[in-house]
Amino acid sequence: MKILVINCGSSSLKYQLIDMDNESVLAKGLCERIGIEGSKLTHEAAGKDKYVAEKPMPTHKTAIEMVMEALQDADHGVITDTKEISAIGHRVLHAGMIYSDSIVVNEDVKKVIRECFDLGPLHNPANLMGIEACEAAMPGTPNVAVFDTAFGMSMPEKAYTYAIPHEYLEKYSVRRYGFHGTSHKFVSGEAIKFGGLDPEKAKVIVCHLGNGASVSASIGGKCVDTSMGLTPLEGLIMGTRSGDVDPAVLQFIMNKEGIDINEMLNILNKKSGVYGMTGISSDFRDIEKAKAEGNHLAEVAIDAFIYRVAKYIGAYTAAMNGVDAIAFTAGVGENDKAGRKAICEYLGYLGVEIDDEANDVRGKLRMISSENSKVKVMLIPTNEELAIARETLALV
Ligand code: AMP
Repeated sequence: MKILVINCGSSSLKYQLIDMDNESVLAKGLCERIGIEGSKLTHEAAGKDKYVAEKPMPTHKTAIEMVMEALQDADHGVITDTKEISAIGHRVLHAGMIYSDSIVVNEDVKKVIRECFDLGPLHNPANLMGIEACEAAMPGTPNVAVFDTAFGMSMPEKAYTYAIPHEYLEKYSVRRYGFHGTSHKFVSGEAIKFGGLDPEKAKVIVCHLGNGASVSASIGGKCVDTSMGLTPLEGLIMGTRSGDVDPAVLQFIMNKEGIDINEMLNILNKKSGVYGMTGISSDFRDIEKAKAEGNHLAEVAIDAFIYRVAKYIGAYTAAMNGVDAIAFTAGVGENDKAGRKAICEYLGYLGVEIDDEANDVRGKLRMISSENSKVKVMLIPTNEELAIARETLALV
């Protein structure tokens, strides 16, 4: 069975066609600059040359049509008919408090995605456009929505409730949701399997450290807490996002600089994080290079990033009254051995011990803790597309 996975942004569309018989990627690609001048599709099929098509893509519907053409192309394609695609799995950002699991799309599901536009203003409209484009291009083929917020829905009230007037939860669903849910669910599940842990009771902390970064705590694969909040701005220091700040900082800066709340949030989302702290880059590799060259702000940014991850691990260990495994994933988590080591150095009190030789690895599933370590520490590459495809398969 072949499943197409779609991840739509406001001007981009990423796709993978996965053969679920052996979970191999048959083809993958990216449509960029949808609705903007200079649209481009880049398509890669297993064992074939890369294919680039530069054609106007005024809408997501045109983009999907180009993806279908590429998938069926005589030279670069991997299927002969779109009927070979059994189902389409869509990454959808926000389901509010309505869905705690993936779901086959119908009119009610689309209504919920639409009603959550204000909770996910950058993503939900694009996600819905992707679904509607697929419905038009492949009528009758089931579409499945896999929500980034679903994993966080199992959090207890004490973890998801903000200490603000209760009416805002009642009236506007203001609470902690958490994001990167597909990744946290996939990685915590893989950690339980790889670590030979009790699937009902295992206490696992997943550190998803990429350009966006978040930590989750789960017991028996069910999320009990996670660092992102109503939006993906809360929690860790990220590439360009601030993570946790005193909310009064906003008013203080707005008054001093004469800017409004939209501009302030734009600064916290796009001009903060390690980028804002250093003025160098949002890419951790650039920050590490600058640190190696003696740049003090780069050193502080990296130290602060690592310190905050360690603080969250400590908090979540307390929340769960213990931890069996800590898993690192995503760009920084999978590639930055010095970062993993530095985070784990804060965790000696938990009996965490890293094996330097095992930790000398990038992007591979591996146990990186020593035999003596009281907590299993693992590198688990995330695979959100495969996770979405598995969720889709389970529903169709
Ligand atoms: P992601 O959002 O998961 O794609 O992760 C992207 C981030 O991973 C970027 O900030 C990259 O700089 C970072 N990254 C990739 N390789 C390394 C590395 N070797 N050391 C540190 N960061 C890395």
